[in-house]
Amino acid sequence: MGEHAGKPTVVVVGGGYGGVTVAKALDETTSVVLVEPRDEFMHNIAALRALVDPSWLPRIFLPYAGLLAAGRVVRDRAVLVEPGRVVTASGAEIPADFVVLASGSTYPFPAKSDLADAERSAEQIRTAHRALTEADRVLLVGAGPVGIELAGEIRAVWPDKSIVLMDERPELLGGPFMPELRVELGRQLEALGVELVLGSPLVEPPPTEPGQLATFTVATRSGSELTADIWFRCYGVVPNSDYLGDALSPSRRADGFVEVGPTLQVRGQTTVFALGDLSTADAKMAGFARRQAAVVAANITALASGDDELVDYEPIGAAIAVPIGPTGGAGQFPGQDEIVGPEVIAGVKGRDMMVEPFTELFGLAVAGSRSGRRDR
Ligand SMILES: Cc1cc2nc3c(=O)[nH]c(=O)nc-3n(C[C@H](O)[C@H](O)[C@H](O)COP(=O)(O)OP(=O)(O)OC[C@H]3O[C@@H](n4cnc5c(N)ncnc54)[C@H](O)[C@@H]3O)c2cc1C
Repeated sequence: MGEHAGKPTVVVVGGGYGGVTVAKALDETTSVVLVEPRDEFMHNIAALRALVDPSWLPRIFLPYAGLLAAGRVVRDRAVLVEPGRVVTASGAEIPADFVVLASGSTYPFPAKSDLADAERSAEQIRTAHRALTEADRVLLVGAGPVGIELAGEIRAVWPDKSIVLMDERPELLGGPFMPELRVELGRQLEALGVELVLGSPLVEPPPTEPGQLATFTVATRSGSELTADIWFRCYGVVPNSDYLGDALSPSRRADGFVEVGPTLQVRGQTTVFALGDLSTADAKMAGFARRQAAVVAANITALASGDDELVDYEPIGAAIAVPIGPTGGAGQFPGQDEIVGPEVIAGVKGRDMMVEPFTELFGLAVAGSRSGRRDR
């Protein structure tokens, strides 16, 4: 069995929030191979903070070297995955007793980055920061959690910029959240002078690239004219599931998400699991990906020891924390009848952007004592 005698090999496809958590959980008991094209983990939860304040960059790129004690990280991209094997872009074929699909989703820059090189990703953020600094008027297209959060980040650094947050939908946020949460987020944004233009799509997308400094005017179908010096796209989660071989492709839905059962095994499979943004298990949240990673680790451990009694993933219900800058925002926690306000959101996310659990996971000094980290 596997790379090391006696231990099953678990190949984890993708080292995002879910992938690194399951790899770490199985590092002692199995032989883990983590396949990931990036040279460093990108803590994209804090990416918008780094856009407005690049001094955060060292906290959002974390080298994989310190993650696993026994397992290995292969810097490569999976191009074909089947039960029992993963083939990478460089042509390597990695045999696997178990495969965990954790390749997540892509999302427009700056919330995520397509670049696999941390230095280049950091430079991309710095370049957009310089352009944003120069822009007087900002247009954010998409008023979901990312658009709201980005509006708050920009306002916290630049009190005088004009910020327009627009969406074709009539309401902020989207998703299965309490109406009071939308009302509260809208109230805070308006108090900060963020202009909301909701309920009508753009006739055409802006003529410039997102993040580029260049003045343009666009119109909504209902007739509003919006002039800005820069814009960002704040919508568009696309699952990364284009590598599934014939045995697995029936589990890939038309929208690209991979169907799993309650045990997080891919539909029709025993040894192949999927978790996180890629899968149909739950909403697209890093916190949920990490809870799923614990279930996948437990179920692989059970199967590896010949036990067929697997545990189910239990969704905990709708949850979200939407910061509006370091001290504002609102959210909704599972099992609570009322929304939570700015102080709670600043404590769980807005102040430190959840950096610490990840610096610890990667064996790095905790935030605030980063003297050992290089500048970026
Ligand atoms: C701005 C922003 C703020 C957010 N804030 C929060 C928050 O506060 N709390 C929260 O819970 N969630 C938050 N989210 C959501 C969260 O980021 C996602 O749910 C999370 O990234 C999903 O994790 P994942 O492990 O499934 O996938 P990802 O994080 O997308 O990671 C997938 C990894 O797989 C790699 N990969 C892709 N294709 C391949 C391939 N073919 N082979 C090998 N590797 C591959 C990628 O390079 C990547 O490293 C936020 C998202 C954004 C954009």
